[in-house]
Amino acid sequence: MPRPILATIHTAALVHNLTRVRAAAPDARVWAIVKANAYGHGIERVFDGLRSADGFALLDLAEAQRLRALDWRGPTLLLEGCFDARDLELCSRLGLWHAVHCNEQIDMLAAHKTQLPHRVFLKMNSGMNRLGFTPERYRAAWTRLNALPQVEEISLMTHFSDADGPKGIAAQLKAFDSVTHDLPGERTLSNSAGALRHGDLLAERSDWIRPGIAVYGSAPDFPEHSAAEWGLQPTMTLASRIIGVQNLVAGDTVGYGSSFTAQGPLRIGVVACGYADGYPRHCTTGTPVLVNGVRTRMVGRVSMDMLTVDLTPVPDAGMGSEVTLWGQSPKESVLPIDEIAQAAGTVGYELMCALAQRVPVVVE
Ligand SMILES: *Cc1c(COP(=O)(O)O)cnc(C)c1O
Repeated sequence: MPRPILATIHTAALVHNLTRVRAAAPDARVWAIVKANAYGHGIERVFDGLRSADGFALLDLAEAQRLRALDWRGPTLLLEGCFDARDLELCSRLGLWHAVHCNEQIDMLAAHKTQLPHRVFLKMNSGMNRLGFTPERYRAAWTRLNALPQVEEISLMTHFSDADGPKGIAAQLKAFDSVTHDLPGERTLSNSAGALRHGDLLAERSDWIRPGIAVYGSAPDFPEHSAAEWGLQPTMTLASRIIGVQNLVAGDTVGYGSSFTAQGPLRIGVVACGYADGYPRHCTTGTPVLVNGVRTRMVGRVSMDMLTVDLTPVPDAGMGSEVTLWGQSPKESVLPIDEIAQAAGTVGYELMCALAQRVPVVVE
């Protein structure tokens, strides 16, 4: 029998979340973001659940090819554009739209011999200071692109640094508006947090929204809001089983470094899941976990292949009992991935993306 760990991708939850995000921007078209192999879920595994999206956006040409191999003929956007002049060939052949964020990418386009002109998304650095033309240089870039026979249509794009937090989007929105107000072209500004939290402000400038994390059922602004509060459902469950039980007495310790000491008699379960499966090693005693759908806590350190849980709240649990590390339990209780991420000092995004290769995955 294989080791009992298993990840499940929930198609119905993907469908539900996409509908939920659409409702936040009812007049916008939706790019489902499937970069990083669909946030660790697997592009092929989420495709059915997300096929009603208006387009897919990602970073990697290889991932775009995988979408085309699934027979996706609709809009496909490379969020960081081309990394090399040769990439433009594939963009032409596969009909990919691509971001343009620097002059070097305009040079590549100007030198490109293409049959079909390209649709590009001109990216403004409105304050994030990652990719894009500054507001001062944006119109010159637009004018240059607009003069190229290789370019068919220019859309306008920026990305917010604080859509999920107290600083908000006002300053970046002002920078974007002041430079683009009289330019033609479709606009795309919002990630999940922008769409969910600032939908009203952004409605006029949202020809397309770009939700990623919300589609995968994690709250972009946890712990201010939980996924459930946003009406989102987990799309990935990581589950395993208890493969050992120990009965401790006061003073016994658990695991490497003896970081946990039992205060009295304590039954613990040993779970077939460790950091080599993508469960974060930074989680310590107290991290929530479900056993037979009942909430309990992890105790001691996470090791490579195992972790240990307190069985006190689930006296009937034992060898073979179901353990939910995050996601949906068979008992219909939910353990939000955001709570595990918080216990590890990170975000749900990272846990999804870090699901290890060795974990078998099923789609339901
Ligand atoms: C990843 C990404 C998104 C999606 O962000 P979420 O926070 O996951 O919704 C949107 N736009 C760009 C440019 C991105 O790189």
